[in-house]
Amino acid sequence: MKENNFEQSRRDMVETQLKRRGIDSPKVLEAFLNVPRENFIPEKSRKYAYNDSPLPVGYGQTISQPYIVALMTQLLEIKKNDKVLEIGSGSGYQAAILSFIGAKVFSVERIKELREIARSNCENAGFTDVAVVEGDGTLGFKGHAPFDAIIVTAGAPFVPDPLKEQLVDGGRLVIPVGSSFFQDLLRIRKIKNKYEEERICGCMFVPLIGKHGWSN
Ligand code: SAH
Repeated sequence: MKENNFEQSRRDMVETQLKRRGIDSPKVLEAFLNVPRENFIPEKSRKYAYNDSPLPVGYGQTISQPYIVALMTQLLEIKKNDKVLEIGSGSGYQAAILSFIGAKVFSVERIKELREIARSNCENAGFTDVAVVEGDGTLGFKGHAPFDAIIVTAGAPFVPDPLKEQLVDGGRLVIPVGSSFFQDLLRIRKIKNKYEEERICGCMFVPLIGKHGWSN
């Protein structure tokens, strides 16, 4: 597909998949209009980049449907220069979206090859400030904690304690929690060492594998 067709598809995606379903944060919409999702999709499925669906990114993992990425981003309530931790870099697309809206992004990926892919996808799309690191994200990222917001883009069996602990007061954690097939998308807000939990909707993510997640 030619570059200008991707641009048209991107605008259509924002209108029909995001705005019509209630995504209304101007910053989030602006990010989706500007970050080229096609750069984060493997060549052979690139023509489906703006489909209303998840897509494979290799190694048995998937990039989420655009709407879910937008919803989770909006739920994080990012302010400029917020320090944000992402667990599950995958393609790097979610990290690039967060970076576009002004977050300082640390993204942890357990699969070495995907870490490399996420890193080069972000760099090629001009997001050179995103730090992609290899590791078990269920442990959080102690060296750079605390975080204003944490987003987990894989399905967890329960909320990992280290992630709650590594939030600032007022921090937000968005995480899918449930079985390995179906989860509830939760937003947890830390307020004076208490945690307020909201259930947002049902969702389906690949499993979060690690010490405070599913075992391999
Ligand atoms: N956010 C990604 C999609 C993530 S798919 C994107 O925008 O493309 C989920 C990713 O989580 C997979 O790449 C998987 O390898 C990774 N993952 C699963 N468990 C993990 C863990 N404990 N730590 C870090 N990454 C993990």
